[in-house]
Amino acid sequence: MDKKVVIHYSEIGTKGKNRAFFEKKLAENIRKALKNQVKKVYRRYGRIVCDLKDESDLNSVKQKLTLMPGLSFFSFASSSLLNIDEIKKKALTLCESREFESFKVEAKRANKSFPLTSIEVNETVGNYLATNLEKKVKLREPELTLYIEILEREAYLYTEKLRGIGGLPVDTGGVLLSSLSGGIDSPVASFLLMKRGCRIVFVHVYNSTLTKREVLKKLEKIVETLTKIQLNSKLYIVPFEEIQKEIIMKVPAKLRMLVYRRFMMRILNKIAPWEKAKGVVTGDSIGQVASQTIENLTCIYKASELPVLAPLMGMNKEEIVSLAKKIGSYNYSILPYPDCCSFMVAKHPETHAHLSEVEKAEDFIENKEELVERCVSKAELKFFDF
Ligand code: ATP
Ligand code: MG
Repeated sequence: MDKKVVIHYSEIGTKGKNRAFFEKKLAENIRKALKNQVKKVYRRYGRIVCDLKDESDLNSVKQKLTLMPGLSFFSFASSSLLNIDEIKKKALTLCESREFESFKVEAKRANKSFPLTSIEVNETVGNYLATNLEKKVKLREPELTLYIEILEREAYLYTEKLRGIGGLPVDTGGVLLSSLSGGIDSPVASFLLMKRGCRIVFVHVYNSTLTKREVLKKLEKIVETLTKIQLNSKLYIVPFEEIQKEIIMKVPAKLRMLVYRRFMMRILNKIAPWEKAKGVVTGDSIGQVASQTIENLTCIYKASELPVLAPLMGMNKEEIVSLAKKIGSYNYSILPYPDCCSFMVAKHPETHAHLSEVEKAEDFIENKEELVERCVSKAELKFFDF
């Protein structure tokens, strides 16, 4: 039997003049993601259709599409020629292999020149199946729904709608740099902005004298997981010990975390032009830890010239954890990791910092610009393909 996937998108449909650009990008992403599994990917009447190879693995196709930004839902379908007898035959073959007692048919006619209306298709195919399979039609909560989409050149039939994550295709929204820690939050923040069409370039800051190389594997695992969504990724690993030493020597304990994060902002802003990035992403969430009061975040974000996007701001930890599990980063995020942050945590950190106070503390660190430049010049760049 012909194996196809019919893909529906919702938000792209609202893009007016730019719609074709978004559709083409989505088709391109699907083609890349399903590389060895598809014969052809094409646009049809506000849908994207994939002709799968005979040997394709439906489970793996399902997994890839479930987390792909831009899809509202998708279905494994078979196609039929545009005549009602053919549609009936295909419907019978499809439903014969399913276990159910009650069913209904739900046809949609995008092609208005097809001689039967949607309701007539429902009745004709419904009666045919009821007679041949000896099953009951039940319009409310049937065990099986057979969907039929009648398009210009063919009809598609399927019995299951699989939910996508919605949003916009990756690479339609520009590049952002994500400040990636070893924790749970920042991978989720990165994911949420990929879902809005952005390409994420990752930056991790670490102490290369204290952190063993094996431990960085955890970061790589997290990036690999997120690469399944945006299909290829870059990770900058920036050694930070020189700045860290300066901070420990010159900044009072209660302000260290803030100064540390302001330096991180400067590092990201320095890397941004290399990637033509238009903003930076963090996994901050209001009130989660002492450095994340609105006053402290204001001090941190003031060190960035680029806009700071923090999509978890209004989310609770459980909501973030449940998303981390859905995208698959959670199991890597909970592996132990001696983040350089942990050396910066004071017993009594400042929770309501004033910018002037933080800037005064920073004044004791000379040549900030050169320090940042030196760190960034030692950055290591890794590439990931899914
Ligand atoms: P979690 O809270 O789950 O431990 P987190 O990623 O939120 O993880 P925090 O210590 O809360 O970690 O840091 C807040 C934000 O600062 C992170 O979301 C991340 O964007 C950024 N950040 C922290 N540490 C690093 C680091 N070593 N390299 C790059 N960015 C970092
Ligand atoms: Mg956090």
